[in-house]
Order: sequence, then C-alpha cells, then structure tokens
Amino acid sequence: MDPYFPWKVVEQSLRDPKLAQRHGLVEEYLIEARSCPKCGAAAEQLRWIYVREELDLPGSVAHSPPRDGAESSALSALSQCREGYLLVCDNCHLQVDFFCERRG
Ligand SMILES: [Zn+2]
Repeated sequence: MDPYFPWKVVEQSLRDPKLAQRHGLVEEYLIEARSCPKCGAAAEQLRWIYVREELDLPGSVAHSPPRDGAESSALSALSQCREGYLLVCDNCHLQVDFFCERRG
C-alpha cells in the first residue's frame, strides 16, 4: 500500500504546534475509517494526525526530481489534496486512511 504522504511530511506535521491542535479522532470520519489492513487495529486505536503538505516550498523541486514511477504518481495525486486527517498505525508504521479537509 502506498503512503498517502511522505513520512517526512507526517513528521513535520507532528511537530507543528498549529497542526497539533487539530490532531485527534474525528467522530464523523470514524464511521467510514478503515482499520489497519496488517494488524487489524480498529480506526479508534490508530493515531489521527492532522497533516498539511507544503507543496510549493522554494527549492523543493530543484532538489528532488521525481524519477521513479510509483513515487511520482503518488505525489501527483497528493497535489490536489493538501491537508486533512491521516490515520497511522504505529505498530505497523502504516498510513491506513486519509480524510481530506482542504483541496488546493
Ligand atoms: Zn497495524
């Protein structure tokens, strides 16, 4: 399963104090949230992280030209969906589900 975001973005979002205010389970998403496909942990047992990806960082394009196929297709899909709730299974280090809050 492809990750929804690069793990670097997830880690940055965890450290961002503004985003940290929004981390946590959202009742309205819980109904459709997936459980972990690997260990079977229920959605409410996963970590709900509010993730924001900064796509237009100066210099990011020049430093990392996307060359390998799988990675670049995952990244282009993300360009339409920049922030929202990401469900992470800490046991499996797996991004299980994602709920978009803003497209841009
Ligand atoms: Zn798991």
